[in-house]
Order: sequence, then C-alpha cells, then structure tokens
Amino acid sequence: MMTVLRDDLVKQLSRMLRVDQFNDYCPNGLQVEGAGTVRRIISGVTASQALIEAAIERQADTVLVHHGYFWKGEPAAVAGMKKQRLKLLLEHDINLLAYHLPLDAHAEFGNNVQLARVLDLPVSGELMKQNNQVMGLFADLDEAISGEQLASRLHEKLGRQALHIAPSANKTIKRIAWCTGGAQSYIHRAVDIGADAYISGEVSEPTFHTARELGIHYYAAGHHATERYGAKALGEWLAAEYDLVHEFVDIDNPV
Ligand SMILES: [Zn+2]
Repeated sequence: MMTVLRDDLVKQLSRMLRVDQFNDYCPNGLQVEGAGTVRRIISGVTASQALIEAAIERQADTVLVHHGYFWKGEPAAVAGMKKQRLKLLLEHDINLLAYHLPLDAHAEFGNNVQLARVLDLPVSGELMKQNNQVMGLFADLDEAISGEQLASRLHEKLGRQALHIAPSANKTIKRIAWCTGGAQSYIHRAVDIGADAYISGEVSEPTFHTARELGIHYYAAGHHATERYGAKALGEWLAAEYDLVHEFVDIDNPV
C-alpha cells in the first residue's frame, strides 16, 4: 500500500476534471484541509455527518464527494450542522475533496456517463452545453421500448422505483435523454432535441404538466441514486493509480 501527497493528488484531480473551466455554485477541489498524505479514501455522494462518521470508523484520511460544502447563497457562518460536520473533519484531520459540476460532466468519471453505463445505454450525443461544458447526454436505441420497460430497467439497475410520468398520448421510446441530480427543468431541452423520454433525479410540480402536454416520458429516478456513480468511479481510479485503499460508502437517501 502506498501513499500520495495530498497536494499532488489535488493538482492531478484539478487537471483531470478541468476544474478551472467551470463556473460552479461551490468551490471544487480541497474544501477542508486534513492530513498531508493520502492513503485511505472514502467516497460518497454527499459529505453528510453519517459519511464523515463512516470515514472515521474506517480510519480514512480523505473523503471524496460530489456534494461538498460552501454553496453559494447558504449562510456563511460556521454554526449548527456545518459546525458539527467541520468539527468532525478537523478533529480527525480528514481531507474533504468535493467535485460538483466537473464530476457531472467528465467524459469518463462523470455522473452522466457513469449512469449510462449502469443503465446500459449507448451515449449518442449531448443534451446541452453550458459555458462549453456538457450538461446531460442522450441515447438512441436501435429498437423502441415502452415507457413501462424503461421504468422497470431503472428499477432493476438503480434498485429503486422511479416516479414515472407518462405523456397524455401513448408513446414508445427511441431517444432517451438524461441529466443526473436536480435537472428536471431541462425537460424542455430534452423535448427540443426530440427525446421521447427524459430521466433526472428529482421532480417539481410543473414537471408533471410539461411531460403530459409536451408528450415526453419523465422519470424522477432519485437525485442520490443517479449521482452515486461518479465519485465511486473516480475513487476506484485513484486507488488503482496510486495504490491506495478506497471504499465507496453508500449512505442511503430516498430523495
Ligand atoms: Zn447533485
């Protein structure tokens, strides 16, 4: 088992994930500084207290997540929940590495590409680009499937029943678009590119009417469930690259 200098690892990740090219709602990279050397990484979706406790239990020196801290617009003071979390990290000298949009968009480790692998969907193109960064993808199937067939594939592959909103008129599916997390508002973009179905994590009240009226199947497959795979893939790659110990810890979240 090897170790790597934390600063070298952070630099490598910044380069790989092209962190400087994103205009994000949070800092990407080292959010909380802990030990100077890394040997044991815990990855997860969100840097919740439960994930930090799991890292402490496993004597990890580094936590790698998609959802870190310091979101634009949140109260800046270190109090309450934020104090509890930071206190645990600092007391145990644990690094917190967080990658938000760079880890959605990446061509290999991105949540969107990883979700395609889990769902066994080919990547045929991009849903859209924002500031030159890919936001979401789409797949063209060789043979059309029904709305129910896609629902059961999601259930089987993600281990969780998606909320399925079917369009008013019956419609089979050949083009499927998706964007992980809370990207339900991109349903309009999915309609624009001719998708028959759109998958994201969450759902809002208007999504129902949009799907019905614009004639597209919508699946709210879970914010957590659709974003479980990027941090995991990145952690596995780091472990192999630097000969480190890595474990993905899935703190279950029904949302
Ligand atoms: Zn997210």
